[in-house]
Amino acid sequence: MKIAIIGVGSVGSAVATAVKNTGLAHEIVLFDRDGIRARAAAEDLGHASAFSYDIKITAVSNYRAIRGSEIVIVAAGANQKPGETRMDLLYKNADVISDIIPRVMANTDNKNVKIIIVTNPLDVMVMLAQKLSKLPANRVIGTGTMLDSARLKIILSRYFGISTRSINSYVLGEHGDSSVVNWSSVNIGGIDLDNFCKQSKIPLPQTSRNTIEHRVKNAAYEIIQGRGATWDGIGAAVADLLHAIINDEHRILTTSVVDGVGKNSVAISMPRVIGANGVIMNLAPAMNTSEKNALRKSAKIIRKNFDLL
Ligand code: NAD
Repeated sequence: MKIAIIGVGSVGSAVATAVKNTGLAHEIVLFDRDGIRARAAAEDLGHASAFSYDIKITAVSNYRAIRGSEIVIVAAGANQKPGETRMDLLYKNADVISDIIPRVMANTDNKNVKIIIVTNPLDVMVMLAQKLSKLPANRVIGTGTMLDSARLKIILSRYFGISTRSINSYVLGEHGDSSVVNWSSVNIGGIDLDNFCKQSKIPLPQTSRNTIEHRVKNAAYEIIQGRGATWDGIGAAVADLLHAIINDEHRILTTSVVDGVGKNSVAISMPRVIGANGVIMNLAPAMNTSEKNALRKSAKIIRKNFDLL
């Protein structure tokens, strides 16, 4: 499979490495408006491929060269500087998405191509990309809260001393400050959280839940403070999403796609079944009243920002 990555900065490079390491692509093409950067990344990754899979990795200087790509990953655009929120990138990155999507559409098979959006503010960029591409919503997929859900899972795994593979936990809504930790649907080995706490004799009081929520929501800010940007986690998230699509896994991942029609439509992260055709089913997990209210508020924030464009 041929995969195109648009934007080869910190995130695009990490995504390219993670995609290469899946062994699922026979060709990766890299496009960046900074051609020197893209060529250097292709060269470096090409060397790395000698230690893993034989794969053709090239930097391309025009969009015609992405022809034949079945999946296009968009990781271009401004990133957060320390103290900036994802929403602060709204106008800058709306310009970037508006530049990229029409060119992608002019050079891919519109009946099959799937676009994966990584650029922030993620959910608004998904809405914009879907509008500009005119693709069915199920084929314009944002990584959404996949990373936030992973962060929650890791924290719970360390707290309880249970493998992440036995924990189901979702963060819903915006990939941003209004994200919602969905405590009501957390289960460990098929056992709901309160019951698991009783059986394991490891309590999880409200104060600890608040701390966990804070850590999940602030993870990106802390990483950006420490290393300037985040890239490893999102690289792994994109690779996981590719596995689910390319292998038609029907796995449930918290991704962001446009739901609803007209003025009521919005892209938020919910658990969604992912397969070869992108999102093939939308699911609603158990939620208590405050989670439902927080999710509605999160959706409103995303829609309001989209309407500003
Ligand atoms: P970066 O500055 O390192 O790289 C951005 C790259 O995009 C640059 O190489 C730049 O030349 C390129 N670019 C900009 N405009 C372009 C255009 N119109 N066409 C082609 N290339 C263009 O930034 P980064 O750290 O790699 O972050 C990229 C994006 O990913 C940011 O929006 C960031 O917020 C986002 N991000 C998302 C997640 C997530 O979970 N979804 C996680 C981390 C970062």
